[in-house]
Amino acid sequence: MNNGYAKKPDFDKCIEAATDLLYRQDDLFTFHLDIRKLKYDRTIYFDSVQGYCVRVGVPIRRVMFGKNRLLKEGCTVKGDDFYLVLYNEDRRSFERQQWTMAHEIGHIYLEHEKDEDKEEAEAHCFTGQLFMPDYSLYRIVKDFNGACADIAEIFRVSNAAAQRRWNTFFRKRTVHAGKKDQAIWEMQREKVELYFYCKQNGLAFNREFFKYGKKRDLLKTADVISSFSELSNLFV
Ligand SMILES: [Zn+2]
Repeated sequence: MNNGYAKKPDFDKCIEAATDLLYRQDDLFTFHLDIRKLKYDRTIYFDSVQGYCVRVGVPIRRVMFGKNRLLKEGCTVKGDDFYLVLYNEDRRSFERQQWTMAHEIGHIYLEHEKDEDKEEAEAHCFTGQLFMPDYSLYRIVKDFNGACADIAEIFRVSNAAAQRRWNTFFRKRTVHAGKKDQAIWEMQREKVELYFYCKQNGLAFNREFFKYGKKRDLLKTADVISSFSELSNLFV
């Protein structure tokens, strides 16, 4: 009866889809969330639109410029059993490209057929949750007294994106704290702790992150070595 109702964005569905995708990951201790490297349960390829045009022999100007251009930031090509996400590699920061690709992943996971206002709002909500999950924001504010600027630094998003997410977050009355939300936070907590440690001690987070990351990798290897030597001791 009311057509307007069907056009309302379903934000719960978007949050759930992004949460599920984060929960699928083995490790979220990364400086940037690299959308191309996430574990997906469908076949998704990525290419720059510039690279793609060269490969398929379509003039870039037809895709990128003029009245009938197909693409401003990114788009998805749907194959029989795969998706190809195209992003604009020109004059874009790494963060911006990641955001664009995540937006396209949102369209894929939310099974959008169109790209109208409702779909745009939903893909945007998906992207926000993927980069800055609600429950993790809640813990950053509650446990670390984090501010909006900290969110941008921790999750490597633009200040504008962090600010929008921050505003949405504080409008909410409740934060979902299910098993998956908590598991995602556990995967992100280490980075958050390191960030606030650096902040309190006046250390450069990006430098410390990579130093710590190396040690972390070594530690993993060391675990294997120590159990290996334990094992070999048994044979002496
Ligand atoms: Zn879109």
